[in-house]
Amino acid sequence: MTGEDASSLTANDQGPTTSDGFMQITEIYKSLQGESTFAGLPCVFVRLTGCNLRCSWCDSEYTFTGGQRMTADSVFTEVSRLSRNGGLVEITGGEPLLQERELVPLMERLLHEDFTVLIETSGERPLARVPKAVVKIVDVKCPSSGAPDTFDLANLDALTSNDEVKFVISDREDYEFARDFVSRHNLDTRVRAVIFSPAFRKDAIGPRDVSHCLLDPQRLAEWMIADDVKARLGLQIHKFIWDPALKGV
Ligand code: SF4
Repeated sequence: MTGEDASSLTANDQGPTTSDGFMQITEIYKSLQGESTFAGLPCVFVRLTGCNLRCSWCDSEYTFTGGQRMTADSVFTEVSRLSRNGGLVEITGGEPLLQERELVPLMERLLHEDFTVLIETSGERPLARVPKAVVKIVDVKCPSSGAPDTFDLANLDALTSNDEVKFVISDREDYEFARDFVSRHNLDTRVRAVIFSPAFRKDAIGPRDVSHCLLDPQRLAEWMIADDVKARLGLQIHKFIWDPALKGV
């Protein structure tokens, strides 16, 4: 699917909306966190339905529609069942902040019950209302994503030293965009980590190796070293542990 401007998507395209205290949830499962400084840790994922972007390499298109209506109470109960003594929980999607009204109180409850809470978002929606103790992992879209310029620059002020910013990179143009974005906004001084991650083919299946990367990690590493870029290279480790086509891992 080619990228589309967020503003060109109708409410219907963005996926189901809730207006009665229910959330629309694609899946809740336990796996290992795959692509942040928390990578490798056991983590419960709450994947919300609906997205207002259409990234060209999106591997989560199954979240655009469907899902199951759940109350925040039942989401909390399922997270607690999967991880009995607190631990790590990641709120993801789709774009989870499309359901901000129900999500913010849920995140506050999880924090209160001693979960470490991560949220993965594109940064197109306002981040200011995300509780400060939640670790924001913000995926700033590069030109090849098909959704460039969707990160709202006003969100830079909502980032803290707890947060992480990720760039998924397909080619040299994406790399230069990410490198210059980091430098222009002193991103490394604002957040805990800046991560450059090679994009994965969305139809990847079978071998668990770098042949599925749209950009060879070695090439990306060499560019980063040459430029002394203030970012770290990240790989989506779950795609090297399990068949990259598997969902729910
Ligand atoms: S923001 Fe995420 S879920 Fe939405 S289209 Fe882009 S990659 Fe897919």
